[in-house]
Amino acid sequence: PTPSSQLTSQTSPSARADSDHRRLVHAVNVTKAFHGTEVLKGIDMDVHKGEVVCLLGPSGSGKTTFLRCINQLETIDGGRIWVDDNLMGYVDKGGRLHRLHDKEIAAQRRDIGMVFQRFNLFPHMTALQNVMEGPVQVKGANKGQAKARAKELLDRVGLGDKHGAYPAQLSGGQQQRVAIARALAMDPKLMLFDEPTSALDPELVGEVLDVMKELAKAGMTMIVVTHEMSFARDVADRVVFMDAGVVVEEGPPSQCIDAPQHERTRRFLQRMR
Ligand code: ADP
Repeated sequence: PTPSSQLTSQTSPSARADSDHRRLVHAVNVTKAFHGTEVLKGIDMDVHKGEVVCLLGPSGSGKTTFLRCINQLETIDGGRIWVDDNLMGYVDKGGRLHRLHDKEIAAQRRDIGMVFQRFNLFPHMTALQNVMEGPVQVKGANKGQAKARAKELLDRVGLGDKHGAYPAQLSGGQQQRVAIARALAMDPKLMLFDEPTSALDPELVGEVLDVMKELAKAGMTMIVVTHEMSFARDVADRVVFMDAGVVVEEGPPSQCIDAPQHERTRRFLQRMR
């Protein structure tokens, strides 16, 4: 092994984390199987604070599963994931589950905002109530303050005139922007986006991507699973291309999208054109 890999393997996780204060997500050799089929086959990935990483790759390559592992909606079978120096639950070599306490999981999830393909807003609540709900119910925030902040966030995502609208009265793009505001209301350190525009009519995609662009510009750390190549090219600091449970290639968009090194990446990008 090279001196640097020896150093990595011998240093304790916290010392390693200390060596890089800018690292927010640190995933090492992550594996995950469903019913005996391995869908993540040793994923390594670091995401730094303020970085926007786009996860690209064919359907079924494990992108969503990896996001869900970061947020502990799935428990990984092997490897380790740290988010902001906190170790997520894992299964050790002997098959023993090292699960965090529910309270720890809840605390960590509070720091991670997730936006899904489907918006999952509460149908019986207005946009404003949807955005206030997390801070009030989960964080015990003061209602007045939560309301003021929710209004600010709805304004920020361009829904200043829709505070009182119910989800059914909003377009898909507007609902997705409420979902983004709702995630931001928890003041997350990290935002995970899982194909946030793929359920939208084409004419509504741009307004959601614009909100995400603004968020990126404001310095939010983001991991975005997307098929929107122009978004990845314009906004991503780094693109990670996955296929069949492995990272095939990664780098800045100018390299990974415009001059891919691997045949699998090239084939995928050709299909996207
Ligand atoms: P991607 O996001 O790249 O499309 P996914 O992470 O959704 O890929 O899926 C990777 C593979 O894992 C697929 O073959 C999918 O069918 C399988 N998979 C995902 N979630 C589950 C689950 N809960 N149970 C069984 N198989 C699953």
